Amino acid sequence: MIFDCPKTRRFRDSLGTILGAALGVVSIVLVVTASGASPEPALPRVVATTTVVADLVRQVGGGQVTVDCLMGPGIDPHSYKATPRDADRLARADLVVASGLHLEGKLAELLAKLGRRVPLVAVADTLPRERLLEVAPDLYDPHVWFDASLWSGCPAAVAAALGKAHPEGAREYQQRAADYAARLTTLDGELRARIATIPASRRVLVTAHDAFRYFGKAYDIEVVGVQGTSTESEAGLADINRLVELVVSRGIPAVFVETSVSDRNVMALREGARSRGHEVALGGRLYSDSLGGPGSGAETLEDVLRANVETIVAGLSEAR
Ligand code: ZN
Repeated sequence: MIFDCPKTRRFRDSLGTILGAALGVVSIVLVVTASGASPEPALPRVVATTTVVADLVRQVGGGQVTVDCLMGPGIDPHSYKATPRDADRLARADLVVASGLHLEGKLAELLAKLGRRVPLVAVADTLPRERLLEVAPDLYDPHVWFDASLWSGCPAAVAAALGKAHPEGAREYQQRAADYAARLTTLDGELRARIATIPASRRVLVTAHDAFRYFGKAYDIEVVGVQGTSTESEAGLADINRLVELVVSRGIPAVFVETSVSDRNVMALREGARSRGHEVALGGRLYSDSLGGPGSGAETLEDVLRANVETIVAGLSEAR
C-alpha cells in the first residue's frame, strides 16, 4: 500500500511543478539554441533577379521567406551580367524568381540552364499575352510593373511557386498574394486620378529609355523614350533630333531622367532644344527598372509608383 499523506502529496506536486518548469526551461534553451544556430531553417530561400521582383516576393512571402536580390538598387537589368558568385547563389536557391520577357537580357542563357535544375518562375511570362505590348514579332515589352493593374496578376504566380517550395505556408502565401493584388488595384485608380490632373496638352512623358509604355497606356499619358525598350540599343543623333523637334514643336515643359539609366541622352536632348530657343526643364529623376535603396522612401513598388507619379505631375503641371 502506498501511503499518500497530504504532506507527501504536496511534495510530489511541487516536485512535478519543479520538473515541469525545468523541462520548460530545457525546451526553451533548446529552441533558443536551435534558432541561434540557424534562423528559420525551414523557410524557402528565394533568389530574385531585380529589386522590383524581390519586393513582389517579400509582399507575398511576408515573414515566411528569405529573399536574396541579385541586382541591387540602381542596377540596369538589361545590361547586367552574372558574376561567378551570382551563379552560385542562384544554383543554391530553393526558388528563383525572375522578371522575364527578356528584361534580364544577359542572364537569359544562365536562367534557361538553371531552370532545368532549380524551380524558377519568370513572373511577367505568366501574364496573358493579349495584355502585353509587342515590340517585335513574339517579343514583348518587359516593363509590366508600371501598370499596377497588370502587375496585380503576378502575386498569384509567386504564391503558387512558394507554396510548392514550402507547402506549410501555402495558405498564407495565397492570402498575402490576394491582399497585395487588391492593394495594387486600389493604387491603380489613385495613379490614374493623379495623372488626369495634368493639363491634356502637357501630358507627354519624355524619359531616358522606353520603360514607361505600359504606364502611359494605363494612365493615359503619351510616352516617348530617348532610347528603345532596352538600354542595350544606343540612341543615335537622328533619334535625339527627332525628339528635339517634338519637344520644341509641342512646347513640352520638362523631360525626365531615370535612376538606372545614364542621363547623357536626355542632357543632349535639352541642349538641342536650348539651341532652338526652347528651354526644357529637368522634371526630376524617375525610378524605372530598379526601386530605391534603403532610406530612399522608395523601397517598394507601391512607393515607387506614387513617387514617380508625383514627380511627373509636379514637372508637367507647373507653367514654365
Ligand atoms: Zn528597362
